[in-house]
Amino acid sequence: MRAVLLGTGSPPPNPRRRGPATLLSLGQARFLVDAGSGVGSQLVQAGVRAYDWPRLLITHHHSDHTIDMGHLLVTRWIVGQNAPLEIWGPAGTRRQVELLLDYLAWDIDVRREHMHDRRPPEVRVTEIEEGKILEAGGVTVSAFLVDHGPVTPAFGFRFDGGGRRVVVSGDTRPSENLVRWSQDVDCLIHECCDMATTGWFPGCGWPTLEEKIRDLQSYHTPPGEVGRVATDARAKTLVLSHLMPASEPAELLAAARTQYAGPVVVGADLLEV
Ligand SMILES: [Zn+2]
Ligand SMILES: [Zn+2]
Repeated sequence: MRAVLLGTGSPPPNPRRRGPATLLSLGQARFLVDAGSGVGSQLVQAGVRAYDWPRLLITHHHSDHTIDMGHLLVTRWIVGQNAPLEIWGPAGTRRQVELLLDYLAWDIDVRREHMHDRRPPEVRVTEIEEGKILEAGGVTVSAFLVDHGPVTPAFGFRFDGGGRRVVVSGDTRPSENLVRWSQDVDCLIHECCDMATTGWFPGCGWPTLEEKIRDLQSYHTPPGEVGRVATDARAKTLVLSHLMPASEPAELLAAARTQYAGPVVVGADLLEV
């Protein structure tokens, strides 16, 4: 089973790191985790043309993880794909998709005027709970709850297939439940938020930079703690993703290695891990 980091960035725009998205595949079975900014171009660069854009699994509804869902949905349809797009996600996914289809309705109608015998795009939404959520092409996908409050529920995903186990954390502070679901995993792709590098502007909603950093720490995992998660999970490899624009890879690596003796990879867009 292959895992390709399509986007290793976070909300701030970063030309070197697109928004959060990861592609898992085994043969022709493909699973896309999250639809961050730029995911369509990244899929094409990873060799998946728009006609074949796969089922989508959403970890949570923060916009950096869903902002290009509409692009996937409508572009896949524009090029000719009529099979429903399958979207799996937390409670609230159905409503988000309905709103998105409403937003796209005018565009879809206008385009259909050029086309013959074309139905509007269909989406098949499954709202998930913790546990096994689907099996396809020899891959079993499980969802587990993570700690990203006040965003509830927020999920991570585990993929078992082809003799390999891969976990994608989604966004979370260090989570005991993630550790439970990630025991002995071959590859743990975990978020790593270097809060100290965040930007601050007057009027941004936090009175001081220090207060913003403290708040971010309550629902993300800092570089100095991500290694402990990997050690507790006995992960064979740790991959860092969801990185801030000003994060220094060498510093992230050093911080993660203080608490984890296994191999650490600082994620990069289009890297296979
Ligand atoms: Zn988030
Ligand atoms: Zn995020």
